[in-house]
Amino acid sequence: MAKEGKESMVLGLIIIGLGIVGLVRSMNSDDTLFITVRVMFIIIGAIIVYSALKNIRKNSSEEVDANALFCPECLSQYHESDDFCKRCGKKFQ
Ligand SMILES: [Zn+2]
Repeated sequence: MAKEGKESMVLGLIIIGLGIVGLVRSMNSDDTLFITVRVMFIIIGAIIVYSALKNIRKNSSEEVDANALFCPECLSQYHESDDFCKRCGKKFQ
């Protein structure tokens, strides 16, 4: 999940970059439609980066769990209150 967030953040940054490069190139042009499209690129890219950052923050706060333990059999995460592993079924003492 965190990896997906990073990928969409990179995508957003690329879109922003394309928008900025296009905008700088069209600075001296009178084509307002072209400039508007580039500005929209930057805005859409910013929205993608913003939501990706929110996603990454949410995922990393889920990963940092002080009470989390790891199954000795399959290394999946479990909680102290669990009697057995949800993935491989190993019983915990
Ligand atoms: Zn297990």
